[in-house]
Order: sequence, then structure tokens, then C-alpha cells
Amino acid sequence: MGSNSSSVNNIPNAQELMQETGFSAAHILRLHERFEFLDKDKRGQLSPQDFGALPELALNPIGDRIIGAFFSPGHFQQETGNVSLSPLSRQETVDFASFVRILAHFRPTETNRTRDGAQQEPVNSKTRKLKFAFQLYDQDRDGKISRAELLQVLRAMLGIQVTEEQLQSIAERAIQEADLDKDDAISFDEFRKSLEKVDIDHKMSIRFLR
Ligand code: CA
Ligand code: CA
Repeated sequence: MGSNSSSVNNIPNAQELMQETGFSAAHILRLHERFEFLDKDKRGQLSPQDFGALPELALNPIGDRIIGAFFSPGHFQQETGNVSLSPLSRQETVDFASFVRILAHFRPTETNRTRDGAQQEPVNSKTRKLKFAFQLYDQDRDGKISRAELLQVLRAMLGIQVTEEQLQSIAERAIQEADLDKDDAISFDEFRKSLEKVDIDHKMSIRFLR
């Protein structure tokens, strides 16, 4: 629709971004169109408000947390399981490269792709998707999901459908099931184990990348 003979060659750093994220040229083009659409004042930067125009996020009960991820990319791009407590810089705005890097977490994982040697773990691997999801819960970034943090997300997701009492008991059960070392919080390893049977790849593939 109204694509003005756009080519991926007109997008700065497109080749690097493709290599880094595994997106195809067609994906990058599509994402660039989305970015330009959201970038109302055409400064090449998105503000948190600009993201509000994405219906996928506006309708998502934890959409504001996902939007938050775009504004602290360092946090969400961490490679290892250790969450540092150092203050993490938050950005005021997001440029196209950061936009693409965050969205790469939602790219479906290819199963039959052999990768050659020294490449780093792809951003859309199951572990990194889990890490991303974990960090949506762990708002104080201490590396654990506390009961209060779990309740916040459950409340946002289940909202008016359940009573406070039901919420408490859902949270209680989730913690009891996942909390292997009985510290009353869910670490990343516990989170990963409790989700072993869940198809995280399916759940974390956002439609607008198709
Ligand atoms: Ca926490
Ligand atoms: Ca625990």
C-alpha cells in the first residue's frame, strides 16, 4: 500500500541489522515502514507515546512493560543469566536500530538452521525469549520475581475477570510450583524450569512480523 519503491538499501545500517538479528531484507523493510509510520515528527526517534499507536501493544495488558523494554535496551540485551544491580541507563527515545533489536526477540525461531561455530546465541533463541519475558515481570531488576511482582502482572493480565482472592491464590500456586529453593521468589532458573513445557516460541512471536 503506497510503498514508494522503497529499498532496503535506503535504510542506514540495514545490512548490519540483518546480520545481527537474522531478519530478512523484507522484514527490515516492513519494520522500517512501521517505524516511519510511528515516527510522527520524522526525527528518526520514537518516544514512549509513539508506541501507543501500535494496536498489538495498546491491546496487550502488559503492553506498557513491553514498551518499557524498548527504552532500556541494555537490560534486555544482556547475554548471561546474571542480572546486574548497577543502574541501567534508560533512553528517552528509540532509534530504528534499537527498535529492530528489541523486536528481534519476537522473531520466530527457526528450528532447522545449523549455525556455524562461533556465532553468539541468536536474540530469538528460547533462552533469550524467556529472559525477555522474565524481565517483564522483574521490574526492580533484582533477578527474582517476587510475589508482589507476580501479582502485578497477573492483575494486569487477568484484570476484572478474577477477584483479588483468586489472584492471590493463583500467585500462591505459581510460586509454590516454581520456587524450588523456597526463598519465596522465582529466580530465572526456576522460571525457565517452570516454563519448560510451554511453547514460549509460539507465545512470543508477534503477528506484525509476518
Ligand atoms: Ca524482582
Ligand atoms: Ca526461589
